[in-house]
Amino acid sequence: MSKQAAHRYSRQMRVVGIGEDGQAKLAGATVLIVGCGALGTHLADTLARAGVGSIHLCDRDIVEWSNLQRQILFTEHDAAEGLPKAIAARDHLAKINSDVTVTAHVADCSAEFLKALPEQPDLVLDGTDNFPTRYLLNDWCRQQGIPWIYAGAVGTEGASMVITADGACLRCLWPTAPAQADVGNCETSGILASAITAVTSFQSAEAIKLLLGMEKTAGVFTCDVFRGNYSVLPLAVQPAADCVVCNGGNYPAITEAPTTAVTLCGRDAVQIDPPDREPLDLATLASQLKGSVEDLVLTPHLVRFAVDGCKFTVFPGGRALLFGVHDPLRARALYDRWLT
Ligand SMILES: [Zn+2]
Repeated sequence: MSKQAAHRYSRQMRVVGIGEDGQAKLAGATVLIVGCGALGTHLADTLARAGVGSIHLCDRDIVEWSNLQRQILFTEHDAAEGLPKAIAARDHLAKINSDVTVTAHVADCSAEFLKALPEQPDLVLDGTDNFPTRYLLNDWCRQQGIPWIYAGAVGTEGASMVITADGACLRCLWPTAPAQADVGNCETSGILASAITAVTSFQSAEAIKLLLGMEKTAGVFTCDVFRGNYSVLPLAVQPAADCVVCNGGNYPAITEAPTTAVTLCGRDAVQIDPPDREPLDLATLASQLKGSVEDLVLTPHLVRFAVDGCKFTVFPGGRALLFGVHDPLRARALYDRWLT
């Protein structure tokens, strides 16, 4: 370990169970963080500062003004530029800890994406805002034998659960995904940044423990930061006898056909990601659209424009976010009109 690294991590290495050996384990670890919103930016910030050697960030969205209240890695400049979250987070993390390799994936976390990852992570962290992606992470991690840590937060409350091969999975706790309307979301119920801090504090401490080879905290962590309640409930400690993943060997979220159009959590926006389209070149697209659409912007990461009452953000390869529309069929029609 270099003198500079020894100095940087000196306080962390004094923690019982870490030391120089533990620090070397963190430096050799690879973690995938799915979702780079409030949860994901808190996790990425903590793990990069802790010296986790390789961090992969996956996010499909761009930075918006309403993110700045709780998504700690982003600035007003990122929101004004509408930068992809994974890119903006990577660039800030590079200034925080240049020893850490951060790889940004501006992508939807699909089964195809996970299969094509350049390196198999040692651990997957849930920073998502929706259950379909969490169930995909559950099934994929179970199939690959990779531990993962579920987390969610809404209003002043949060929950988290460490899922390892020797215990229950998310489907043991909830066999099918709860309806988003039942659990609320940031748009309908709001979100306090302190709830994110509390839940990611549990999640990142458990992440570091797993990477060091320590025993996890079993059960479901829950908190309500306004009530001052923090507890670990003894739920889903053992795999459920009727779990299709743990005891059936089925991985439904991997085998289900991907959905082309997805309404984004609580937002007036739809993502279109046609699996079979021809790769799309951003500069060519921008030149084709010139004169036909308004507010056309071309950056190295995306093309933005407004037309038909809808704001488009198009990424390399053809994935697009359509803002100002909530009906997937209408979004698909607009996509086909302007991008195919
Ligand atoms: Zn299970």
